[in-house]
Amino acid sequence: MQLTRFTDLGLRIVMRLAVLDPGDAVSTQHVAQQMAVSYAHTTKVVTRLSELGVVHARRGRGGGLTLTDAGRDVTVGWLVRRLEGNGEVVTCEGENPCPLRGACRLRHLLRDAQEAFFRSLDDHTVASLAHSPTGPVLLSLARPMPRDPDDVAPAPADIAAPSARAPRTRDARRTAPTAPTPPQSP
Ligand code: SF4
Repeated sequence: MQLTRFTDLGLRIVMRLAVLDPGDAVSTQHVAQQMAVSYAHTTKVVTRLSELGVVHARRGRGGGLTLTDAGRDVTVGWLVRRLEGNGEVVTCEGENPCPLRGACRLRHLLRDAQEAFFRSLDDHTVASLAHSPTGPVLLSLARPMPRDPDDVAPAPADIAAPSARAPRTRDARRTAPTAPTPPQSP
């Protein structure tokens, strides 16, 4: 089964937010930059995550994106189900509906397999996704940049309005871990 890009980005975002220190926040634009995706795409996903109560988006000075307590504790399966929606793994309906769709054993098998896939993700919380070795990599993505107070939470109406300004964020206190120095030859 392949997840949609929307779901994948949603998981990337919550992982990034899961390693923020208490009281810290990060701008949408900075998250987009760190996750190597467009700002417009990121705002759409952040909007959905906010609707689900997983992400808190606060505007203005001191604002930014944070993970809610509920968002930290939800299971990956819960979140993936909601980001994926009710789609099936095959397209039985649609413009050219399959003639077997009304009585197809395969369709039932695939639905069961899809549900088993989601259930396998129910054993893991969002917070657990940020454990090592992923956590240190997430932290290394943060770069020292001054924060832009206008670039925080996307409102639904803002979705397709990527800023042309250079991304800046207060998520700058973190520094990338330095690589170990290789041993010197005598
Ligand atoms: S054969 Fe079954 S599973 Fe495949 S498209 Fe047709 S109805 Fe869907």
